[in-house]
Amino acid sequence: MNKKIVILPGDGIGKEVTTEGKKVLEKISELFDHRFEFDSAIIGHDAIEATGNPLPDETLSKLKNCDAILFGAVGHPKYDNDPTLKVRPEQGLLKMRKELGLYANLRPIKLFDELLEASSIKPEILKGSDILFFRELTGDVYFGEKGRKDEGKTAYDLMIYQKYEVERIAHKAFQAARTRKKKVTSVDKANVLESSRLWREVVNEVSKQYPDVTLEHQFIDAAAMKLIQNPKSFDVVVTGNLFGDILTDEASQIAGSMGMLASASVGDQVGLYEPIHGSAHDITGKGIANPLASILSAALMLDISFGLKQESEAVIKAVEATLKNGYRTADIADSKTPKDKVLDTSSMGKQVLAQLKIVGSRQIAVGSNYNS
Ligand code: NAD
Repeated sequence: MNKKIVILPGDGIGKEVTTEGKKVLEKISELFDHRFEFDSAIIGHDAIEATGNPLPDETLSKLKNCDAILFGAVGHPKYDNDPTLKVRPEQGLLKMRKELGLYANLRPIKLFDELLEASSIKPEILKGSDILFFRELTGDVYFGEKGRKDEGKTAYDLMIYQKYEVERIAHKAFQAARTRKKKVTSVDKANVLESSRLWREVVNEVSKQYPDVTLEHQFIDAAAMKLIQNPKSFDVVVTGNLFGDILTDEASQIAGSMGMLASASVGDQVGLYEPIHGSAHDITGKGIANPLASILSAALMLDISFGLKQESEAVIKAVEATLKNGYRTADIADSKTPKDKVLDTSSMGKQVLAQLKIVGSRQIAVGSNYNS
């Protein structure tokens, strides 16, 4: 298979983790005989420094003309500490999502058994949790009218949704539920918000086309509580941009660390794959960032954008085997982890590559037996 992939490292640890994600894609192409052509582009703080624009035209053009994107993160302390700066890294991210029509953000929350102890939630509550979030990405308060009045003493952000925006993500959630446990939980605040009442109406309407899938509605406050009380009760969750932003960070605790969670942003064109974490200024440049979320994002790319299920599975199994062998980055290590098993970013990447070679070769061997 021939594919063109753009690596978009962005800022901070984005660069460190996408380096490892790219190596995994290179290894997959070598093992499974695909031809992946790589290009790279700038976004965020780096792009502002170089061009004054957080999403330069050259970057956008590369992104529009490739098969998939492996993204890191954007953000820089300079902007976090000064909200008055007009040109900001996250504008590049929001514009990219809009321009590429990336309206659905998929976040699988799957707990690796080896990390049961790394979470702040009790293992018996967590074990067996497997949730797939669909967060709407191009509507809501992030894109509604915003501003100040009364000489700056009043501020507003309009929470707005249109029917078609809810419909298209609801369809994606129901379709995914059909391949899983056939349950969709739609999360809103329909007891208070008019945009949530529209959300609920439309989800109910779409659900009629999927009679084999059970639909339930939960208010965001109740869902936030149930997510840590009984995470196993969820299968597919569909929700708006703001509620999804908060809920998926909460859910990252189920997986043990932000450094473990991958995500896919998809629409009708190219797919973008990224860890859910940000640029993590506090650890940038120290070489200790966990690269597994970026590596698992690469696995999502192989599955969702390229339909390469076996290759995607090989990456996930390689990560599993690495954890089983006891290797950890600092964020997922605990007091019982032997010092020599706590790895830096590139050593963790190397361990996954070594396991990938073993898992991939085994898969190829099994595949050829089947063919003969
Ligand atoms: P963050 O996700 O960058 O970090 C939160 C905490 O998790 C930090 O303590 C960090 O060290 C840790 N962490 C995150 N990823 C890790 C990894 N791979 N390995 C080990 N530890 C990891 O969130 P934040 O600190 O709130 O934000 C930092 C910057 O990132 C801000 O500028 C913010 O705007 C930006 N941000 C960008 C995105 C994005 O680009 N999609 C998302 C969230 C935040």
